[in-house]
Formats: sequence, C-alpha cells, structure tokens
Amino acid sequence: MKEFQLIEKYFKPLTNSCKASQNLADDVAKISLKKDEELIISKDVFVEDVHFLRADGGFKIASKLLRTNLSDLASSGATPLHYMLGFSKNDHTDEKFLREFSRGLKSVQDQFELCLIGGDTIKSEKLFFSVTIFGIAKKGKILSRNQAQEGDLIFVSGTIGDAFLGRCFDRLSMTSAKILQERHFFPTPRINLGKKLLEKKLSRCAIDVSDGLIADLNHICAASKLAAEIHLNSVPISAAAQKFLQKNSQIKITDLISGGDDYELIFAVNPKNRKKIAALSKSLNLDLTCIGEFKKSSAKKFNVSLYDEKNHKITIKKTGYEH
Ligand code: ADP
Ligand code: MG
Repeated sequence: MKEFQLIEKYFKPLTNSCKASQNLADDVAKISLKKDEELIISKDVFVEDVHFLRADGGFKIASKLLRTNLSDLASSGATPLHYMLGFSKNDHTDEKFLREFSRGLKSVQDQFELCLIGGDTIKSEKLFFSVTIFGIAKKGKILSRNQAQEGDLIFVSGTIGDAFLGRCFDRLSMTSAKILQERHFFPTPRINLGKKLLEKKLSRCAIDVSDGLIADLNHICAASKLAAEIHLNSVPISAAAQKFLQKNSQIKITDLISGGDDYELIFAVNPKNRKKIAALSKSLNLDLTCIGEFKKSSAKKFNVSLYDEKNHKITIKKTGYEH
C-alpha cells in the first residue's frame, strides 16, 4: 500500500477531525493554548526485537506504545491532548497489521480522550514506531522528580512485578499468567491519579515506573538530593504474582522490584496527607501503598536502601532495566 493511501485509510480517521490535525492536509499540526496553560510533551520510540516482536501483532504493539507514552504524562499530572506518530513499514507490513495497529491506537485514544494530529511514515527493514504526546497543565503546576522533601512518605500505585512476570513467562497457560500478560501488553497509565495528586495538592513529586521500582525511585532521589528507605514486605504484589512466586521459587520478589514495565506511579507525600491519600485511593478504586520514606542523604549519595521484614538491609545486584 502506498504511503498516502495508508495515511488516508488508517491514520486520518484517528484525527477525529480535530482542529489541531489540520486534517493531515498540511505540513504541520497546530495546537492552540490558553494564557495560563503549558504544553507538556513526551516521546517514546519502540524498536522491533527490543521493545516488541512482530509476532505480537499490531494491536498489542500500538496499544503498548501509546499507553507507555501516556504514562509519562501521568507522572507529570498533565491532561492528554494530542499525539504524533512515527510509523515505519516494510515488506511484511500487510493490511491486517495496519488494521490491528490503528485499532490498537483507537482503543487507547478513545479511553483517554486524545487524537492523532500528524506524523511521518517511512520504509525501513527493521520496524520501529514512535509517539510524541502532548498534554496540558496549568502554568508552573506539574509533578516533577526533584520535588520530594525529607520525611515525605513514598507511595506507589497498583501492584509491582506483574508485567515483568507476564513478559518472562508468556508461554504459560495458567489463568494467572493471562492476567500477568495483560498487564505487560496493556499497562494502565495512571492519568487520573497524577491529575488528582496535583488538584488536591497531595504531592508535587512523581515518576512512572518504567525501568524498575528501585531504579526509578533512584531517579527521584538523585533529582531531589535525598536518600530513600523502602520495606520489601510493603511493596504491593498482586494475587496473581504471589501465586506465581509460590510456584516458581527461582523467581524472587527482588526480581519484581527491578523488573520494570509496571507503569505505576511512585510519588512523595507529606505524612500529614496520609489520610487524604487513603480517601483518594478509595475514590479512584486504586491501591495506593506506602512503601517507605525519603531521608536526608549523605553528600553525593542519593540512593535507595531496601529492608526485609526483620529490618535487615538487603543488597540487590540489579536495580532495573538498562537500555
Ligand atoms: P512531509 O513530506 O511534508 O513530511 P508527509 O507527506 O510526510 O509530509 O505527511 C503528510 C501529512 O500526513 C502530514 O500532515 C503528516 O503529519 C501526516 N502523516 C504522515 N505520516 C503520518 C503518520 N504516521 N501518522 C499521522 N499522520 C501522518
Ligand atoms: Mg514526511
């Protein structure tokens, strides 16, 4: 299929005729802003055999691409608005793949109310896809990595480790494996959580867990110039993952907290807001679990310490996925 036919048939419908897209009939897209707003932008690139396999199919690849990019916006507390798509095709790209790919994008953009406003389409032997996402926030009001304070509690949303297990054990046919795989391919960007934390002034500091709980918490520590202490037995693990750990003793909970791909939010909360976080958890119907605390750090050492149930310090070799 020729480039322009492809854009017309599979990508133009995803613009929902929104003004910013200029109907994909121009060289540029155009986003209008109000005076007190800021544009919040993030980009992700997915490469064949690194971030996805062709065998995953267009639906899963596109869903995950857009969901993980939305998760970056979630960590800032911004509201999603539009996105642009870098699309590659090769001799294996057939109509089935295109149909599934655009269906994957549509399912996510419908759920999170955003639309496609442009992109680029090229030919390349190895496939890669890229999304640049645009969100809106009130001027000067976003969640940042460098805003944690000494004494703040460390909270995490949802559960940790499901996606890691879903990725490692994709051939198992247990029901719990299915749940874990879903968490791997269809992570839930915590957009509402990010927005509510800002709106209710419950946090000014968050990050999304893409590389691993410890590795990403380390980023907050470095940016905020703090240390963090977390308790391994406080880390929220889903029932499916727990079942898995019981049956597969070679996998440890420390593998889950460095596995990555969770797309949950880690955020800092002043202890006086603890009750309000519990109320927010209830209203969002989402677990928000305190796993530790930010501490003053010695000079130049801004890292995470991990403790077991007996309060003994644990050392782990790998803190997260490295690119
Ligand atoms: P140019 O040649 O000036 O780079 P293109 O011919 O590549 O422009 O694109 C024409 C129009 O189609 C533009 O509005 C562009 O944003 C849009 N477009 C191209 N590829 C994609 C894509 N993968 N997703 C969305 N829009 C696209
Ligand atoms: Mg172009």
